[in-house]
Amino acid sequence: MSNFWLTIYAVPVLAIFAWYLRARWQKEEASIRAAEEAIAASMDEPPSLHPVIDPLKCIGCRSCVNACPEHHSHPVLGMIRGKARLIAPANCIGHGACKRACPVDAIELVFGTERRGVDIPTVKPNFETNVPGIFIAGELGGMGLIRNAIEQGRQALESVKKLDGIGKGNSLDVVIVGAGPAGFAASLAAVEAGLRFITVEQDSLGGTVAHFPRGKLVMTQPADLPIVGKMKFTKTSKEKLLEFWQGVEAKTKLRINYNERVTNVVAASAGNGFELTTSQASYTCRAVLLTIGRRGTPRQLGVPGEEKEKVAYRLIDPAEYQGRHVLVVGGGDSALEAAHSIADIPGTTVTLSYRSSAFSRAKAANRDRVEQLAKAGRMRVLMESNVREIRDDEVVIEYQGKAYKLPNQGVIVCAGGILQTGFLKSIGVEVETKFGTA
Ligand SMILES: Cc1cc2nc3c(=O)[nH]c(=O)nc-3n(C[C@H](O)[C@H](O)[C@H](O)COP(=O)(O)OP(=O)(O)OC[C@H]3O[C@@H](n4cnc5c(N)ncnc54)[C@H](O)[C@@H]3O)c2cc1C
Ligand code: SF4
Repeated sequence: MSNFWLTIYAVPVLAIFAWYLRARWQKEEASIRAAEEAIAASMDEPPSLHPVIDPLKCIGCRSCVNACPEHHSHPVLGMIRGKARLIAPANCIGHGACKRACPVDAIELVFGTERRGVDIPTVKPNFETNVPGIFIAGELGGMGLIRNAIEQGRQALESVKKLDGIGKGNSLDVVIVGAGPAGFAASLAAVEAGLRFITVEQDSLGGTVAHFPRGKLVMTQPADLPIVGKMKFTKTSKEKLLEFWQGVEAKTKLRINYNERVTNVVAASAGNGFELTTSQASYTCRAVLLTIGRRGTPRQLGVPGEEKEKVAYRLIDPAEYQGRHVLVVGGGDSALEAAHSIADIPGTTVTLSYRSSAFSRAKAANRDRVEQLAKAGRMRVLMESNVREIRDDEVVIEYQGKAYKLPNQGVIVCAGGILQTGFLKSIGVEVETKFGTA
């Protein structure tokens, strides 16, 4: 072949190869940066179920990276030096799609890591715990995702129905604790079965889903909702999913006791069953179904005035705060994100109060944004400060040894959560701490 034809063919082939190498290099660089950022922001521990990739088996095909349903919103898996890596562990929510996509079985799904154990309650195949009559379904049992929670809620209620004493006596058949996807499905199954039950929810319908960021793309799989039939969503938004569930709640006349938190469960003094105490009342019941997820209960400040309606423990829509004086309390990512997204709404005055001297737990991007807004005079940041009182139109904050009164029409407390483990142990449910095992 003449040099002319060699050049005609070789140049485009070399150009495509060079373009491929460059694109691959750029992706690897982005993965390395994401992994470094995760470490710098202490976001390098996965919350629960996550993949562990065997580098000796991995052939670098990228199937797992592309299969992860979260990868359109934020990085989770990436390629580094030709091998797949969990680059942003805190973003992993345990879809497990990576394991199914891997052609060489290089991925294992495990709970916890060597450094950070994850507490998983011991649950039998019928969802009953070691305490006869107390059942667990949904994410609390270790299996995350909306579809799994719905399926488990429904199946756990089937097991509850089979207990001796259901439908007899004066007490309730079952108290369902939590109205996330698992508790919602279990409640519909209880209506369908004609059980005497109540559902108690400390917050609002939807559980963790109600806390997703506004407009979040929700990836799920069709699941069977009792009474309603197949819930056919695969890709939807948080808002559409919640609207659908609220519609079902209204249509089925399901009654859920919102803003009521279960604080204790003890064996009933007479017969089989339990006495259950909540923040509002106490109930006797034959069985308890815990569908309380793993997010825990928001930590409160414990200051006078915290019960006021203007106090919230999460930000739903920053636009609600337009034209108001808002106090955000906390130093993690949720606090910083809440503070800067409200400060971006014209006409708001935002104060961020944190009791420590540095935002060491938050992502660099959030820290930088808060710093920029503070420098531009669009947010007041009070480090090493403590909220002392919440009044109708003002808050009292202790800062540098003095008490300051600030005008206020809204408080958002992002002070972390109290984990479920203590509650489970206190009611006698066995919990196993997993350090990187299935
Ligand atoms: C950022 C993020 C994104 C996600 N994206 C997806 C996705 O795209 N697709 C998907 O399938 N899954 C996703 N998930 C996972 C999914 O949200 C959970 O697996 C699912 O919500 C678990 O349902 P659940 O009913 O078991 O628990 P939860 O949804 O956590 O509900 C538990 C409920 O119990 C209540 N509760 C807790 N303690 C008490 C108490 N003591 N008394 C009364 N009530 C109590 C809580 O207030 C809560 O409403 C995501 C999770 C996160 C964090
Ligand atoms: S799918 Fe399996 S082989 Fe392919 S990159 Fe991921 S871990 Fe490696």
